[in-house]
Amino acid sequence: MNLEEGIQRLAERLTGASRVTVLTGAGVSTASGIPTFRDAGGMWKNFRPEEVATPEAFARDPKFVWEWYEVRRQAVLDCRPNRAHEVLAAWSERSPAFRLITQNVDGLHERAGTRNVIRFHGSLFDVGCWEECPQSPHRWRDDTVPFPELPPSCPYCGGILRPGVVWFGEMIDPEVLRRADAALECDLFLSIGTSSQVHPAAALIHTAAALGAFTVEINPEATPASPVPDLSLAGKAEVVLDRVEDVLQRRT
Ligand code: NAD
Ligand code: ZN
Repeated sequence: MNLEEGIQRLAERLTGASRVTVLTGAGVSTASGIPTFRDAGGMWKNFRPEEVATPEAFARDPKFVWEWYEVRRQAVLDCRPNRAHEVLAAWSERSPAFRLITQNVDGLHERAGTRNVIRFHGSLFDVGCWEECPQSPHRWRDDTVPFPELPPSCPYCGGILRPGVVWFGEMIDPEVLRRADAALECDLFLSIGTSSQVHPAAALIHTAAALGAFTVEINPEATPASPVPDLSLAGKAEVVLDRVEDVLQRRT
């Protein structure tokens, strides 16, 4: 099936589906100018993200890890949602049972106005107390850039703050996991712009398929999850979603 036929089929499925769940990854934000870890050359000051974004790296050198997050926080503030975010936001308005699980920490889905976003890996603009002092909430928003000093200090106990993202080797928040699991009960599940290599997010499409959803992957490249979906659209998210929305608009 060529891309154009796939776009028509997805538009048909969207028209017929009442419960739509979308999983997004770094690929939906590349058109906004935010590189995926692989596109970024995979390195920052000679470190791979997998070596900086860990509790061990933070325990060793919190200032160094915060410098990396500060660069990313500033870069994201300078970017805007792209057509992929806009189309998904429009679907979230239109479809009563629309849920979007994102692995992205950039907040661009929310800035585009998307409803029902489940932030699987937290947010670049959330912080938490590293010592988990009992006076503080688990996470709260603080989009100060730059902080007067790094690492920033906890306003509750005077200790140090950590970025409110889920690091490699950390558990997903149980409440977030519960909401994501519930979202897998759907008629249509779309996996967009994710390499399907980071677990447990990579397993979600398998579970949605096992629960009976029609599954779709949108990615210019094949991924380990590519044998699973009922429909694969080999294209960029911002192009494919724009085309699907165009088909939907012309039908109404
Ligand atoms: P990934 O970097 O592992 O994979 C990105 C995928 O996007 C690749 O398969 C690539 O082929 C695809 N892609 C590239 N351009 C695309 C486009 N225009 N349209 C559609 N697909 C495109 O990303 P991941 O699967 O999200 O996992 C990486 C981890 O890194 C996640 O945990 C995420 O939290 C984090 N991360 C987040 C951001 C962000 O918030 N924007 C950026 C980099 C990494
Ligand atoms: Zn504290």
